[in-house]
Amino acid sequence: MASQEIEALSQALARLPGLGPRSARRAVLHLMKKRQTALEPLLAALQNVADNLSTCSICGNVDTSDPCSICADPRRDDKSLCVVEEVADLWALDRSRLFPGRFHVLGGRLSALEGVRPEDLGIDKLVSRVAAGGIDEVVLAMNATLEGQTTAHYLAERLERFPVRITQLAHGLPVGGELDYLDEGTLAQAMRARRPVA
Ligand SMILES: [Zn+2]
Repeated sequence: MASQEIEALSQALARLPGLGPRSARRAVLHLMKKRQTALEPLLAALQNVADNLSTCSICGNVDTSDPCSICADPRRDDKSLCVVEEVADLWALDRSRLFPGRFHVLGGRLSALEGVRPEDLGIDKLVSRVAAGGIDEVVLAMNATLEGQTTAHYLAERLERFPVRITQLAHGLPVGGELDYLDEGTLAQAMRARRPVA
């Protein structure tokens, strides 16, 4: 029988995505056994992130600095901008190292069902970024869901009046596919074969 403190830790871990009560208990046991090599580094890392967590005021990414490390990276190509629904999608694309440009996180997708309207997403901010100029291509990297595609069409219309090439990820994305769950090969293929929005 564990103390209340340990039980509280187990329960907190069990609420994380991908962990259940059983793996949470195993993680807690591991942390207790490896105090110096696992528990203390984890504690320091959590504290550091908790102290510095911020949402990037330029792109909407979540990072420990504002502007985020992608927006602040001078090696990134300012001329191409990739629009994604969620931070998880940005991270998936960035992990795959396929896209050398900048990102923009909408914070969701349009949904009549869930009552998500254009003004609920980072769309005005996107339009202002494009209106400011210097961007040649906007890649609409929405998920291959009905709502993702509705969002992409809406964005294409909003961006039509600017002198930018608007492309979207190639088909080949599984229908209903969420970017974050795709293997990197599939994602790479979709990014390389991106095509103009019809
Ligand atoms: Zn940023």
